[in-house]
Amino acid sequence: MSEFDLITKYFTRASKRSDVLLGVGDDAAVLQVPNDRRLVAAVDTIAEAVHFPVGTDAAAVGHRALAVNLSDIAAMGAEPAWATLSLSLPKYDADWLEGFANGLYRLADRFNVALVGGDTIRGPLSITVSIMGLVRTDRWLTRAGAKPGDTIFVSGMPGEAAAGLAVIQNNLGQSSVEQGAASKQLRDRFLWPEPRIELGRALRSLASSTIDISDGLLVDLEHLCKQSGCGARIDVESLPFSQSMRALFSQEECERFALTGGDDYELLFTVPPEKMLDVEAAVARGIRCTPIGRMMENRTLLCCREGRAFDIATRGYDHFS
Ligand code: ADP
Ligand code: MG
Repeated sequence: MSEFDLITKYFTRASKRSDVLLGVGDDAAVLQVPNDRRLVAAVDTIAEAVHFPVGTDAAAVGHRALAVNLSDIAAMGAEPAWATLSLSLPKYDADWLEGFANGLYRLADRFNVALVGGDTIRGPLSITVSIMGLVRTDRWLTRAGAKPGDTIFVSGMPGEAAAGLAVIQNNLGQSSVEQGAASKQLRDRFLWPEPRIELGRALRSLASSTIDISDGLLVDLEHLCKQSGCGARIDVESLPFSQSMRALFSQEECERFALTGGDDYELLFTVPPEKMLDVEAAVARGIRCTPIGRMMENRTLLCCREGRAFDIATRGYDHFS
């Protein structure tokens, strides 16, 4: 199989978008941006043994490569539109490619994303997706904009993905049917992250700042604090832990996963006091979001238990530390 046959066989599925004037097959894609929109662009790479364990299901890898990018688009309150895919493959493996393409296109179709180009090379397994989205000219979300007194919310159950990775790496949850169900649920949370596009859309008119949690709640909150020029206090008692997390891990482990574990791709966002009622209404209609703390004047990041600050050893994942 030549490089060109491979691209034709796996990466030329049609999309429903009419704004792709020229897609896969030429030297570049040509895309139509409406006059009343701005282009939002992001890129993320995932590499085997760094972002997912060796032997991870190919469909889950395809899903993840796009999901981590969609999560960035969600955090901007944008609508995803187009993606390019740069694929480094150790060898030609038809089953793997079929699974990978299925996982990627399934998610792309759900969010109406067209794959419009890419690059294919031989090398260690690594996937880079560039995503482009659209947002109204006057309305997008950023990490800046939080003010002291704003309430900090997080969507979903932060820590579940890190707990799921621990389950996979240590083969946990084998000793009872109940544990088996809990471990499957957590593994799935790691393997199939769900980009919070709809929540991002709802937050456009409600949040003062937003970030998606990829490296861990505390490190990512720290980025938000820096960009907003203020500090934050997290009340650890308010962190939501799922039944599955509690079934397999101690309170202390759950806290550590929630505060410092990465890969959740949940949204962390801040809400000014005058928007609190609107947020509660919006959130009641959609995905679960939990208030977990408050933005502060003082430019530090505090974790509190029963109102008292405590230290945690590490804040989250850093590729270079
Ligand atoms: P060039 O050498 O001009 O960059 P390529 O041979 O790399 O062209 O790619 C040919 C066409 O196939 C281009 O339109 C490119 O965007 C697309 N393409 C290559 N690899 C992929 C891929 N993995 N997924 C989607 N499109 C791809
Ligand atoms: Mg090329």
